[in-house]
Amino acid sequence: MNGLPETFPAFPEFAAGEVWLVGAGPGDPRLLTLMAVEALRQADDIVFDALVDKRLLGFAKADAAVHFAGKRGGMPSPHQADINELIVALAKAGRRVLRLKGGDPFVFGRGGEEALALAAAGVPFRIVPGLSSGLAGPALAGIPATTRDTNHAVILATGHRAVDARSAREWEQLAATGQTIILYMAMANLKDIVAAFQRGGMPDATGVTFVISATNADQRVLESTLAACAADAATAGLKPPAIVVFGAVAGLRRALLPWLRT
Ligand code: SAH
Repeated sequence: MNGLPETFPAFPEFAAGEVWLVGAGPGDPRLLTLMAVEALRQADDIVFDALVDKRLLGFAKADAAVHFAGKRGGMPSPHQADINELIVALAKAGRRVLRLKGGDPFVFGRGGEEALALAAAGVPFRIVPGLSSGLAGPALAGIPATTRDTNHAVILATGHRAVDARSAREWEQLAATGQTIILYMAMANLKDIVAAFQRGGMPDATGVTFVISATNADQRVLESTLAACAADAATAGLKPPAIVVFGAVAGLRRALLPWLRT
């Protein structure tokens, strides 16, 4: 890559028959890692996710083949098994396969499942981490994941699972820790999750901040409280992709905002 200091370590070779599982970060293409850029430049096949910015294809070779593996235009997303099969088949055909995923590939992105499928098929692969939306989104919106005054742990959880007889207790226990909770994919089950957090002892006045489409041009941030957040999200018409932050850190944003450049 041009413009790097001479002392910079060399990039690994993207060998034929390898798959690289690469994190594209939360949205803004400028938050890509150098390793991801290098992978994009070398790949023969790029298997793309829905939340990934199409402008990243500008780095690709002119003859790179692009496969869209996300939900598009109301079409259902392909099954995970089909994606696994595709990347295995391309690698076995001797291609350099870049599996480009939103955020970090190993955080709620099924990158773990894809890595297991590659290992099971005997395909060599490399992981290129990316900035996860659950940490980068709040950070860019002015919400630190931790301060010594507010919390000593951060829980990253998916709200995708319904709150049912089996999981209700688990949700309550998360709230009972009193720590910061950052939820991915929580909009559909928000009401039930809030009720479980209340049963788990989270105070109604706890700060809750939504970061919608974090780092993208259409980013929206909404501040609320545990008691009001489900109604506020509905009134504001908030839609995924969303990160929801529960905890005292959410309240720090107000002090930072006047001086925070975004
Ligand atoms: N691997 C990804 C997460 C994939 S799950 C990562 O590390 O970020 C998809 C969920 O991530 C979305 O439903 C949403 O909750 C969250 N997400 C991804 N990109 C986002 C963004 N730009 N803004 C807000 N939430 C985002």
